[in-house]
Amino acid sequence: MREKLKTAKRWVVKVGSSLVTNSGLGLDKGAIAHWAEQLVNLQQQGIKFVLVSSGAVAEGVSRLNLKARPKEIHLQQAAAAVGQMGLIQAYASCFMRQNVHTAQILLSHEDLSDRTRYLNARSTLSTLLEMGVIPVVNENDTVATAELCFGDNDTLAALVANLINAEVMIVLTDQEGLYSADPRFHSSAEFIESASANDAKLMEYAGKGTSLGRGGMFTKISAAKLAARSGTSTVITKGTDSDVLLRVANGENLGTLLEADSEPMAARKQWLAGQLTLKGSLVLDDGAVKVLTKSGKSLLAVGIKQVEGKFSRGDVVACLDESGSEIARGLANYDMGEVQTLMGQSSEKISELLGYAGEEEIIHRDNMILS
Ligand code: GLU
Repeated sequence: MREKLKTAKRWVVKVGSSLVTNSGLGLDKGAIAHWAEQLVNLQQQGIKFVLVSSGAVAEGVSRLNLKARPKEIHLQQAAAAVGQMGLIQAYASCFMRQNVHTAQILLSHEDLSDRTRYLNARSTLSTLLEMGVIPVVNENDTVATAELCFGDNDTLAALVANLINAEVMIVLTDQEGLYSADPRFHSSAEFIESASANDAKLMEYAGKGTSLGRGGMFTKISAAKLAARSGTSTVITKGTDSDVLLRVANGENLGTLLEADSEPMAARKQWLAGQLTLKGSLVLDDGAVKVLTKSGKSLLAVGIKQVEGKFSRGDVVACLDESGSEIARGLANYDMGEVQTLMGQSSEKISELLGYAGEEEIIHRDNMILS
């Protein structure tokens, strides 16, 4: 599996609060610069990645000269709003020194459980990745508090891994990885080099978090399990180790690897196959049926002859041949009314017909499964 990490082309890299703020002393710009250098190096090798960084509250606490992280959620939210400015500035300037642009993305768990928002987030992120821009994600702490209360963005990182079909999620933390017990108190504690993300024993090994971020090993393992459901394997490793990201990419045995059982695309298709609530169907002409079944391409408006049902962007719809047999199903990029307007037309006409242009496909291949 470590060998497999060498070929992984889509990564999520998650950086924890303690690490990014040097245990609360203020942003560790040296550390950020070192990760940025490694990430730009990996980007030049063809790896696409999204950075998920917490540390907004911790940086806000330091900027506002508060004695400690406040207990009140509304004060944490205010601190996060202050600290996020510094966090994003630090990433932007470190990457800019190497002529790479960054983008700020603030998300909440709800954004990713709502299908329309999920598709919107997915298309923004993939466009940024195509442009060579590095997205820096944090929870939108003003409107959501899940990660403030218990996550330190571990769960958010797993959701982002699903969003971009990442093969690997690297969780950079202030620990070496996972031990079978707390090594400070148990001399017999063993280091876990690798395990299945679904190994039931992992939860027993996990301890509690530090006071700066909310995530301990427990949330990291839960996040690894969640990521594994989308086919993403996780590496939990120490972020201060020199060249840590380059070494993980080289297959070096660093940290704890929690393996997913399937590949991201297979897991995604399995999820789609299980979506029984079809909101509508599209009748395709013979050409489109052939393109879908034989060439493995996306569904374009030009091949659609008829639209049935009532569906919104992000709903699951069936693709039928002219005799009414289902040949595929997938997530619609447009709602029923829009598809009615677009059917039979070439993709170049989308903006003229709708007054705006979303994706050029009605159903993208990655979001489709053949029946
Ligand atoms: N979004 C929060 C942050 O960046 C999550 C981490 C935390 O709870 O400290 O600060």
